[in-house]
Amino acid sequence: MIKRRDFLGKAALGTVSLSALPTMAMKAESKKGAKKPVVISTWNHGVQANETAYPLLEKGGTALDAVEMGVRVVEADPKVMTVGLGGFPDREGKVTLDACIMDKHSNCGSVAFLQNIVHPISVARKVMEETPHIMLVGEGALQFAKSQGFKEENLLTPEAEKAYKKWLEESKYQPVINIENHDTISMLALDKNGDLAGSCTTSGAAWKMHGRVGDSPIIGAGLFLDNEVGGAAATGLGEAVIRTAGSAMVVELMRQGDSPYDACKKVTERIYQLYKRRDDLQYLQVGFIALSKTGEYAGYSLRKGFNYAFQEPGKNGLSDADFSMD
Ligand code: ASP
Repeated sequence: MIKRRDFLGKAALGTVSLSALPTMAMKAESKKGAKKPVVISTWNHGVQANETAYPLLEKGGTALDAVEMGVRVVEADPKVMTVGLGGFPDREGKVTLDACIMDKHSNCGSVAFLQNIVHPISVARKVMEETPHIMLVGEGALQFAKSQGFKEENLLTPEAEKAYKKWLEESKYQPVINIENHDTISMLALDKNGDLAGSCTTSGAAWKMHGRVGDSPIIGAGLFLDNEVGGAAATGLGEAVIRTAGSAMVVELMRQGDSPYDACKKVTERIYQLYKRRDDLQYLQVGFIALSKTGEYAGYSLRKGFNYAFQEPGKNGLSDADFSMD
């Protein structure tokens, strides 16, 4: 299992100071990307995804190719237990995957509840390019994938199976913040032409109900972009992101003049307002990344622990996102 953060105890139920919101937000500025190209992606595994995506962009490749090729690296990595091969299964021990992709013309493709295919992002791209539809799910998505030459394989690794068996001992659905309902990879890219694209791929919340679909394959929720303005993508509790049309809202706020940082922060805080009296607030973590048409980018999350990887001319790294609650 990926070991990421050491603050989990702190983030558990009962230790979060609700009154702190939004005072703990620290820096109030988006990172200005003066030059193109730019790529940003969620979480630690964003680094390896960017390492594949950025050279493509540097060579003059399209943002669309970059966001597909970048996240494929993470889909194929069995050590990442939240995406593709090796992802945590649902309550029935089945690994079910969600993904979507969007291009500069607002073309988009999506697959949900897809099983046995390592690269749902590439199936999503085929849905976008080869069908009159946007979204295919379950058996139909699998059938389509096979018709396009994708091979079926078992995605449940021994490690994920072991974790599942351990979970079965108690069988409680109580997602652990920053571990069990997170770590989708979402990627946004701005190419040398000044065009945007985005991708998002996940095995979804660990131990979800069989058939559950999160925000990640839903255009407007897990991912959205408008080539005139910018793009945004989400990670975290998918139900919360769907309820608020999270990524579409971030982009719309940017259209109204907000910086990527302010837009991500406002939508995060709106989600908190919606959840603050709900029982499931204890499981709530959401994080957004946003990239503007001018190369400005930012990330923001409700709770501490979200980070994103960035790469632009002369600069790359991993940035801890600002947050509202410790
Ligand atoms: N947003 C994803 C979902 O709810 C989880 C994640 O970010 O890993 O399916």
